Amino acid sequence: MNDPKQRIAIVGAGMAGVTARYRLAAAGFHVETFDKGRGPGGRTSRRRTDSGEFDHGAQYFTVRSPEFRALVERWSEEGTVARWNPRIGTLREGAWRDATGESPRYVGVPGMNQPAKNLAVLGDEAGAPPIRLGTRIVEARDERPAGAPRNLWYLRDAADALHGPYGSLILTVPPPQALDLLPGSSAAVPLLRDVKIDPCWAVMALYERPPMERWDAVFLEGGILSWAARNSSKPGRPPGEAWVLHASPRWSRENLELDPREVIRILTAELPAAVADGRSDGAGSARAGSAGARAVGARSVGGVPLATWAAAHRWRYARPRRQGESPRRHGEVARPPFWWNGEERLGLAGDWFCGGRVECAFLSGHALAGGIAAALAGPAADLNAGPAVGPVAGPSTGPATGPTP
Ligand SMILES: Cc1cc2nc3c(=O)[nH]c(=O)nc-3n(C[C@H](O)[C@H](O)[C@H](O)COP(=O)(O)OP(=O)(O)OC[C@H]3O[C@@H](n4cnc5c(N)ncnc54)[C@H](O)[C@@H]3O)c2cc1C
Repeated sequence: MNDPKQRIAIVGAGMAGVTARYRLAAAGFHVETFDKGRGPGGRTSRRRTDSGEFDHGAQYFTVRSPEFRALVERWSEEGTVARWNPRIGTLREGAWRDATGESPRYVGVPGMNQPAKNLAVLGDEAGAPPIRLGTRIVEARDERPAGAPRNLWYLRDAADALHGPYGSLILTVPPPQALDLLPGSSAAVPLLRDVKIDPCWAVMALYERPPMERWDAVFLEGGILSWAARNSSKPGRPPGEAWVLHASPRWSRENLELDPREVIRILTAELPAAVADGRSDGAGSARAGSAGARAVGARSVGGVPLATWAAAHRWRYARPRRQGESPRRHGEVARPPFWWNGEERLGLAGDWFCGGRVECAFLSGHALAGGIAAALAGPAADLNAGPAVGPVAGPSTGPATGPTP
């Protein structure tokens, strides 16, 4: 397609990016998508190692919107999404509460990145060029080529290759990463600067026997760990005791630059300590800061087995942080859940518009693409003709911590 007005670039092939790509390709646009990762999915990644498989980012997703539900039902029939029915406990102030609940929790099969992969295939089938994986974009430039009536977008990647021109640009990378790409004069800059994204240290660990019998997954409140889940309890995963541990946003923030080996030592020692804390038999004495020391050379702490293998992953930008006095309620979606500037022909989409969930990212990409497609469908269709889709949306201040969608 030669008309640059109809050429759109998307940076980021997480849930928001692959959704926007699919919808814009289906509406007839030429959409080129770039991602630095090895596959689509972003924070829904799955890690395969010689020792086991782990969903080390998003743990599961919930479904509230009709748009997402329609796809999830289709994927459930195909077998690429399934309900996960874990026994979930919450540990608060030393006492366990059953948090299993009734609301369905879903996972991709065989990994959490499967919905993004499915959307990538839908985009391919709609005619989008293949996603350019392993391509880190380092600069987005807005320039007027000689003789052109208006500015167009160019992207430069880490290998110094230039891509473009594009009539419009969509960034679906986390806000701090979007800031690194854009010119300082962009109208998006003040908005992006306002958004805080918390990190999350994740540890993938193998056990010879379950570190806890009663639960498949636990929310741990007020401590170093915020979540632990038996990956192998999810449908379509190999059997065994493969567990994912997530540190709390606060601990992750305070220990962002810690050596991963130290992170592994602390988090794997913390699980038995936290579990022991919640025992009614008073075995909580395993905590008291000595759990790490006790773990050395031992096979268990307070009867809770220790990991036989572990690896760490740092999510530098994991979940949007709660802001302000009256945060949006869990699951509430900003209207519209994206940002678009018709003058710059620049769009932003991502989970941070509505609380940091897989479904939010989908809804954000979906809504932005729908808005752009509608704006260009009219007789005077021109993305440069002014704000195309509704008012500029501010970011939501949705729930920031823990893996619960
Ligand atoms: C530890 C953790 C636990 C979570 N738990 C849950 C959960 O249980 N349930 C739930 O619903 N949600 C959960 N989430 C949140 C969920 O994963 C996100 O809301 C969602 O995946 C975000 O999708 P996105 O498309 O907005 O962004 P991302 O998935 O971050 O996609 C952005 C993409 O941009 C790419 N990128 C970044 N910079 C560049 C660049 N310069 N050039 C090229 N590509 C670039 C990245 O590689 C990435 O693929 C969790 C997240 C984390 C990290």
